[in-house]
Amino acid sequence: MFGLPSVRLGRPFGIPLEVDASWLLVFVLVSSSLTLSYFPSAYPDAAPAVYVVLGLVTSLAFFVSLVLHELAHSLVARAGGLKISKVTLFLFGGVSQMEEEPRSPGHEFLLAVAGPATSVLIGVTSLGARTLLIAAGAAPPLWLPFEYLGLINIALAAFNLLPGFPLDGGRVLRAILWAITKNLLKATRWASRLGQAIGGLLIAVAVFGVLRGTFDLVWFAVMGWFLSNMSSVAYQQQQLRVTLAEVPLRRIMSTPAVLAPSDVSLEEMAHSYFLGGRHTRYPVVTDGKVIGLIDLSRVNQVPRERWRSTTAGEVAALDLASIVASPDASVDSVLGRLEPDGPGAVLVVEDRRLAGIVTRADVIRFINESAQHA
Ligand SMILES: [Zn+2]
Repeated sequence: MFGLPSVRLGRPFGIPLEVDASWLLVFVLVSSSLTLSYFPSAYPDAAPAVYVVLGLVTSLAFFVSLVLHELAHSLVARAGGLKISKVTLFLFGGVSQMEEEPRSPGHEFLLAVAGPATSVLIGVTSLGARTLLIAAGAAPPLWLPFEYLGLINIALAAFNLLPGFPLDGGRVLRAILWAITKNLLKATRWASRLGQAIGGLLIAVAVFGVLRGTFDLVWFAVMGWFLSNMSSVAYQQQQLRVTLAEVPLRRIMSTPAVLAPSDVSLEEMAHSYFLGGRHTRYPVVTDGKVIGLIDLSRVNQVPRERWRSTTAGEVAALDLASIVASPDASVDSVLGRLEPDGPGAVLVVEDRRLAGIVTRADVIRFINESAQHA
């Protein structure tokens, strides 16, 4: 996001968790406002070290709550058969990156509700812990973090439940409209228009605040601007998906003239194909039948001194199920496989013979051409 680097923190439940560099800004803002203002006013006259520790511990717990919110979305998505590529935390919270869209309104509804429900659960549990600690006579530094976490998680759930797509509440609305109209695109259009309207309203509230001399609500303008942008982008993406679902691979594939026989050595692959040729990946064939796909990164995994004795067939990606598709499959159905961290290309195969190859570049060219004709 924003071209900044992101750090991978682990794979809870097998789902890669990444933190975008922009999120560090949030962490610094939250922990410094807790340390410098929230805790000193809620619990005056303590040593500065107490505020620093409280600020750090509470920000970390807030971070964990955000991760749990996103993981809840991802786990419900996965339980319904959707592939999750990763969860990323960035400036405005988290996103669960799904390779495909929910297949039914019911699943979309559950998937959308899972995040806010988790936040409410964390919020209510934290407030419960606070009440118990106060009843047991605990000192404020022990229960103040729970009070903050309780309120922030409930506020987080409330914001996310605003009915503007692609916020969680907007997804809930889209699921309901989808169930009623049976038309996903129409449902997305209405839910994202409401998202733009809510974004505009948030900006108006911020402007109103500034006109009355208070700057506390300026953050609303940032959120509103972000929400209305996200809404229009989300609608365009949905429109594109609908278009791409109707276009068969045979319409956009390029027909590669160059195939790599499986018994060619890596030495020759490197010189004649990758250095001398025009493509970055080649289908590998035996007797004219496709057996896999090879690119330079696979060649580079083999030490140079073994290039002469190793053949293309030995190092090619052989997992045909993930790289092969029929000419009649829709472009939309293979988009997930064209992501940069996947195989990067789909081989279009008819009767085990190669009919063409589809890469990201082909999809982008098609999108640009259809945008010009529109
Ligand atoms: Zn959410």
